[in-house]
Amino acid sequence: MKAYRSMVLVSSDPQSIEKGSKIVFETLQQEIKAFNLEDEISLSMVGDVGRHDAIPMVIVYPEAVIYGPVKPEDVHFLVEEHLYKGRIAAGLQASNRELSGRIAWLSARKGTLPAEKRVVLERAGFIDPTSIEDYIAHDGYLALGRVLSEMQPADVIAEITQSGLRGRGGAGFPTGTKWGFVSKAKGDKKYVICNADESEPGTFKDRLILEGDPHAILEAMTIAAYAVGANEGYIYVRGEYTLAQQRLKTAIEQAEQFGFLGNNIFESGFSFRLHVHSGAGAYICGEETALIESIEGKRGEPRARPPYPTTNGLWDKPTLVNNVETLANIPPIIRHGPAWYRSLGTPSSPGTKVYTILGNVNVTGLIEVPMGITLREVVAIYARGMKNGSSFKMAQTGGSSGSIIPASLQDTPMDFDSYAKAGVSLGSGALLICDDDNCVVDLAKVLLNFFRTESCGKCNPCRIGNERAYQILSNIAEGVGTLKDLDDLATLSDNLYQLSNCGLGQTSATPLRDSLNYFRAEIEAHIRLKVCPSGVCSMSGKSYKYN
Ligand code: SF4
Repeated sequence: MKAYRSMVLVSSDPQSIEKGSKIVFETLQQEIKAFNLEDEISLSMVGDVGRHDAIPMVIVYPEAVIYGPVKPEDVHFLVEEHLYKGRIAAGLQASNRELSGRIAWLSARKGTLPAEKRVVLERAGFIDPTSIEDYIAHDGYLALGRVLSEMQPADVIAEITQSGLRGRGGAGFPTGTKWGFVSKAKGDKKYVICNADESEPGTFKDRLILEGDPHAILEAMTIAAYAVGANEGYIYVRGEYTLAQQRLKTAIEQAEQFGFLGNNIFESGFSFRLHVHSGAGAYICGEETALIESIEGKRGEPRARPPYPTTNGLWDKPTLVNNVETLANIPPIIRHGPAWYRSLGTPSSPGTKVYTILGNVNVTGLIEVPMGITLREVVAIYARGMKNGSSFKMAQTGGSSGSIIPASLQDTPMDFDSYAKAGVSLGSGALLICDDDNCVVDLAKVLLNFFRTESCGKCNPCRIGNERAYQILSNIAEGVGTLKDLDDLATLSDNLYQLSNCGLGQTSATPLRDSLNYFRAEIEAHIRLKVCPSGVCSMSGKSYKYN
């Protein structure tokens, strides 16, 4: 590729586009031309850069100066000052005060803090996601080339197993073991599916990977297909993720033109065809068997398991289903080796985790950090503390399907086993941080409202249980709850967990269990004293009846 003096990146995630990043990009094109700098400056639109506090953002490398929010009328000054005269365009930098405060805080504690480490987001926000050349220039398709030229399928599975990679969709199942199941399953045809139906409220990490680095998923799926013996795959993308779908389709066309997808890839004799399948808005289609039903053109309802998709999946054929973030780990593992991967994170949960930070903190956004970081560190370092000096009360992990983590577990390492040992779960990676102005009854009510709406209705424990739990929580929030309601919620929680057919019903028990375990006194205050200690619930005395 051509070398340039400076590289200018313009954020092009949906929020940036909505706020005018395309006009900023076009104005930059015009100004760069007007200053006769076209041969010296490369200009690209990139995926989400992980910060939403100053979009549209313009980043200039090699200085790594972040400007934002940039308006079209700022562009002439930015180009003249930075790209023509070679000095910072004063006053346009993003959250100057915010950044310098963060850098000062970090340097004061140098050596004592876990650093952000980008593995799956190594290119997102840095390369042009619509350019296969840009991906190749940044080590793209190197891992696939190595796999197809030097490795047998069993070697690939062995490397993934040795790396210790565990599924990032929430359950943390060992990826190499799952690949081994599909590889050994008998079938005249096998499939690989990327689960990109990211519908957990507050979670947007998969979208950023797909929008910012779509070729990484194509490369990973092709490696996975070779390893398990599949020759056809689907990327099941949430219906609302239109930009991600567009970029994936563009990437597939480019990869086919370059011989990295389709027939006889890298002239190895191995062929793999890939399709993008758009979801239609049902949260339950994130459950792998409902997703498979949906691809088959049926109503998106989970199947009874066993049999599992590894033996009886799409069209009843052995099928490997992996989440976007899990797959994005594959090319770096192949490139750098399992020992390198194991050097990140914790012994039982190697690697990194991508989190979306939301709620009552100073800086929200996306981070990728080694497994094993604590919630206290996330809030203090990456979120720059609680908003307005408030106190941390609880965090809700993983959108709706994670746990409600109390302050007493802030120092528990965030990895699959440490959280499981503490009786909570990591979920998919959203961290909703709540201060004392948030009520746990209200939070649980919101979550149960979500589950009762999203339940597919196939089995009674989930369909009826979530509705009943929501009704009880509503009554408690309205000041008409009784102490017996607490026993009923505990029973409902057990029943939902034990008897529901799929993960949706099972995880809907979590907010009930956690709120009773960690915040019982606060719930009892609503019942005994008719008071909401956080001042959120209205206590109107209105009663909800289930019918
Ligand atoms: Fe449907 Fe809920 Fe049963 Fe899952 S648990 S099959 S979502 S009703």
